[in-house]
Formats: sequence, C-alpha cells, structure tokens
Amino acid sequence: MSVVYNKVALIGLGLIASSMFWAMQRGGVAGTVSGYARSQASRDTARRIGLCDEVCESPQEAVQDADLIVLATPVGAMGAVMQAIAPHLKPGTTVIDVGSVKQTVISEVAPHIPDGVHFVPCHPMAGTEHSGPEAGFATLFDNRWCLIVPNKGTSEEPVQRQVTYWQALGAMTEIMEADHHDMVCAVVSHIPHLIAYTMVGVADDLRRVSDQEVIKFSAAGFRDFTRIAASDPTMWRDVFLTNKDATIEILGRFTEELMALQRAIRTGDGEQLHAYFTRTRAIRRSILEAGQDTDKPDFGRAEVK
Ligand code: NAP
Repeated sequence: MSVVYNKVALIGLGLIASSMFWAMQRGGVAGTVSGYARSQASRDTARRIGLCDEVCESPQEAVQDADLIVLATPVGAMGAVMQAIAPHLKPGTTVIDVGSVKQTVISEVAPHIPDGVHFVPCHPMAGTEHSGPEAGFATLFDNRWCLIVPNKGTSEEPVQRQVTYWQALGAMTEIMEADHHDMVCAVVSHIPHLIAYTMVGVADDLRRVSDQEVIKFSAAGFRDFTRIAASDPTMWRDVFLTNKDATIEILGRFTEELMALQRAIRTGDGEQLHAYFTRTRAIRRSILEAGQDTDKPDFGRAEVK
C-alpha cells in the first residue's frame, strides 16, 4: 500500500481517531501522524500506547504542515476546533470530519475553512460502545461503509483522494448528499440508539436491572440494548441535538408503528403481528446477505477487539 497523505493530524483521539491511526499504520497509508486530545490524561495515554508518531499539546501545533486534518471530536465541538486551527493550515490541505451527523457539522465547520483548503465531510459507519484513546483497533473499518459527503464547490481531486484513503483503511465508500445522509443515519443508527437508551432506562425505572434474575436471564435482545446504551453520552447527546429534524421525523413514524402494534396486541390481532414480524425478518436476511453482520450467536460480538 502506498502513502496517501504525507502528514495526517488527528484532532480528538478517541475510538474513531485511534482506529484510524492503527489502520493507517497497518496499511502504510500516512508518512507521519500527529495527534491532539483535549485532556492531558488522554494525551498521556496516547503517548504511553504509541498512538500517533507525535502527540501535541495544542491542536494548532498538531496541524502544522499536515496534508490531511481529521476532526474526530464530538460533533458539537467541531466548529470551535475548526475556528481555532484555521489560521494554521497550509494551502492545498484537506480537512475531513468523521461526525455522525453531516448537515449541522457542515454549517458549523465550512464557514471557518480558509480559501485554498478543501473540506470533505466523511462518516465511517463503524463503531463500538467503547470510547477514548485505548478503544481503537486497526480492523474497525474493514468492510464497513464510509459515507463521503463532499461540500459544495469542493474539487474532484480531494474527494477522490478520500475515496482512496478510506479504502486503504479497509472501508467501502459511497458519495452521498448531506440531508440524505442524516435521514439514512437517523433510521439505521440514531433512532435505534435512542430506543436502546429508552429500553434500558425503562428497565432501570422498574428497578429490575440490578435484580439478579434480570441480569442472569437477560437474552440477546436486552443484552444488546445494554451494549448500545453504554455508548458515549457526550457523542450521543450531540448526535440528537444536531440531527434534530431527521430524528424527530423518524421518531414520529416509529411511534405510529408502535401504537399500531400496541393496538394489535390489545385487540388480539395475531395476524397483523405475524405479518409484521415476517416482513421485518426479511430485512435481517438482507443484512446478512450484504455481509454487514454475522448470524453467529451474540452477533459474533465477543470476537470484536
Ligand atoms: P470518543 O472516543 O469519545 O473520543 C472523542 C475525542 O475527542 C477524545 O479524544 C476527546 O478528548 C476529544 N475531544 C472532546 N471534546 C474536545 C474538544 N472540545 N476539543 C478537542 N478534543 C476534544 O469519540 P469517538 O467515538 O471517537 O467519536 C468521535 C467522532 O466520531 C464523533 O463526532 C462521532 O459522532 C463520530 N463517530 C463515532 C462513531 C462511534 O460509534 N463511536 C462512529 C462513527 C462516527 P478527551 O479524551 O481528552 O476528552
């Protein structure tokens, strides 16, 4: 694999940035990698585990001479980070973000992009419930999608180079419009997380989560909810605050369907329940056929990491 960027700067050193670093190392994708995290503790951890060739004490120092700058903080922090580093970027450099939401990030980051600097918003559709500099691993992006959402007016070369870059990290790529991205992610990721948070919250309200029986007998459904509901609270707060329209739209539809199922249960309409579950079962089959999950027990997740 050949070098795609001579110097890459990672701003934020959590799950996504650390996985990018290990994947870049695996593939020889970058000449050198500098990094910056907000807290001294995360910077110290990064130095201890050899994350990045150089861990810097400020974002401005990290981006010096970088050919690619990756904004990998929670989405709510990206605008301010971009504003702080903007005067320190060299002409011709590319800035990407890896945020889970695109329209808001674009509206907050793009105004601070200096002339002659390319902005290519990205979203690697891969993650775990773990966060921080020690959470990353080189195979996180393997065979997962990275959605690339070119900013208006961005020339073709930096976009194509991002396609090459993400493929070198193991991902598959697709170009998408920002509003479509936010709606798709509300369906496949954001609302499912909200439902998991809610279900675990309901169990907790019933004071049953700590009951030995619930823990002992929890089947894959509830266990998987608890895994998802253990995801980083800051990241997910920002996702809902910044993808408000799409999540409210999908949540409205979800609530209507839930009410319809509630009615079917109350009225004993087994036919409706069976037809509904048959339709949804087919979706699981398509996901397996697309190679996007495994049919192993526990979704094979014990093997991750
Ligand atoms: P993470 O593990 O929680 O790491 C976030 C990093 O950002 C930490 O290094 C943190 O530093 C740093 N940070 C926080 N606020 C900052 C600020 N104001 N200035 C500079 N650095 C700051 O998060 P992650 O899971 O890697 O997520 C990063 C981004 O990727 C998010 O925008 C998220 O939406 C997106 N994403 C996440 C997933 C996922 O499943 N996790 C998947 C796809 C995309 P400290 O450690 O010092 O606080």
